Amino acid sequence: MIYGVSQFAYLVASACFIFALHWMNTPATARNGVYAGIAGTVLAVLATWADPTIIHHAWIVLAIVAGFAVGVPLSRVPLTAVPQRTALSHAFGGLAAGLVGTAEYYLQITEAPAHLTTFRMVALIAEVILGYLTFAGSLMAAGKLQEVKWVPQRPVTYPLQNASNLLLFGLALALSAAITLHPTASWAPLVFPVIVLLALAFGVLLIIPIGGADMPTVIAILNSYAGLSAVAMGFVLDNKLLITAGALDGSSGLILAIIMCKAMNRSFTNVLFGAFGQVQQAKAGGEQQTYKSETAEGAAQVLEQASFVVIIPGYGMAVAQAQHKVRELYDLLKKRGVTVKFAIHPVAGRMPGHMNVLLAEADIPYTDLLEMDDINHDMPQADVALVVGANDVVNPAARTDKTSPIYGMPIIDADKARTVFAIKRSKSPGFAGIDNQLYFSERTWMLFGDAKAVVGELVKELTGGSGMH
Ligand code: NAP
Repeated sequence: MIYGVSQFAYLVASACFIFALHWMNTPATARNGVYAGIAGTVLAVLATWADPTIIHHAWIVLAIVAGFAVGVPLSRVPLTAVPQRTALSHAFGGLAAGLVGTAEYYLQITEAPAHLTTFRMVALIAEVILGYLTFAGSLMAAGKLQEVKWVPQRPVTYPLQNASNLLLFGLALALSAAITLHPTASWAPLVFPVIVLLALAFGVLLIIPIGGADMPTVIAILNSYAGLSAVAMGFVLDNKLLITAGALDGSSGLILAIIMCKAMNRSFTNVLFGAFGQVQQAKAGGEQQTYKSETAEGAAQVLEQASFVVIIPGYGMAVAQAQHKVRELYDLLKKRGVTVKFAIHPVAGRMPGHMNVLLAEADIPYTDLLEMDDINHDMPQADVALVVGANDVVNPAARTDKTSPIYGMPIIDADKARTVFAIKRSKSPGFAGIDNQLYFSERTWMLFGDAKAVVGELVKELTGGSGMH
């Protein structure tokens, strides 16, 4: 009876996870997606806990308390730190899978060796390798993104790197094959920790040649590894919910990584082995180019005269938390009859959907948020392109400069607007570490300063101009 109820609960939980992913598709239903995900997880935990064979309930309570102790502080990180936060979640997911696999192996060799069939051993070893690999790799990725001192930010490359990594992986596979065929041999319990160590080492080695700029994509790939590890765990524990949830996790991570690679015009191999993000050599001997600066007052006058303004937000808007000021500017311009649209690049900011989340927080109507492909053909008609802390995603070098590391990445055609105002604090480059010709263009005027402060000044100018308070 309990078995039937718990299987039914698993089915409902699986449905919750599928709805959760579906609802995440648009900002309008995303909140429901979060609730469905939470409901599915709570149901899954309770259904598992109801298993009458569980006798040590204290351990489960302890695990739940530990989960809250780690999860609650993690949920409080600022939005700009969400990529590394996500990496940490994957690290914990991977560690959990690895530990469950390890416990299962050592438990079964003493208690029920017959249980360790070849099929179950294949699943168990896959779970352990993917779990520990995800754990070590995700920790490295989080460290790189958080710019932790002892984790090198730049890609670390050395001769025969891929060959030596492959050799290591081959060794792990050979040992895995041996232990799969002879799980209860006297040497097997000693070989198992070696496989764990190799998986941990492989996780670190896989991440160090990748630059910080590619970390968010790598995190999505690690997400799919964690999902696959959960699928394998589902087979080991004979738990259908783990198989479904792991498959959903694994495939959504993979799809996300593919979307991100496409948006940056990169291939998987290029992300994983391209050592992108190495600091570019400054171009020697080039003539000194100059920026033109504009005051908030001057910019406000141009904005007032415009009939079509496109706002292009980027990472700087997130850093400055300027979204609410941007909303005020949007309201003021709309009130004056100006058409205002937001151009959203798929990899603006530091995570997919970063700009959508911020602008939704400021209650900007979704109908005025346009994806890159939908806005680009209107850019030549725009009177003003207002770039708010975006850099790489509006860099024309992606279209024209074959030597640029971002060559081929689709960009928002800010340079095609009649006038460009670009808000940033200094002359430093964006994430890819390269100069941006847009800022030197004849049509571009820089509004140097913190995005929140500058947009605030624009708002003040426009408010003053209309006689409002
Ligand atoms: P970006 O190229 O990193 O440029 C952001 C700009 O914002 C910087 O040039 C910075 O200049 C400025 N800024 C920072 N803080 C600011 C503040 N408080 N006020 C005003 N300006 C500020 O950002 P992006 O154009 O959004 O491009 C995103 C980059 O991240 C791309 O290279 C993309 O490939 C990469 N990436 C994104 C994702 C994703 O999922 N979104 C994933 C992987 C990689 P100053 O320092 O001079 O102010």
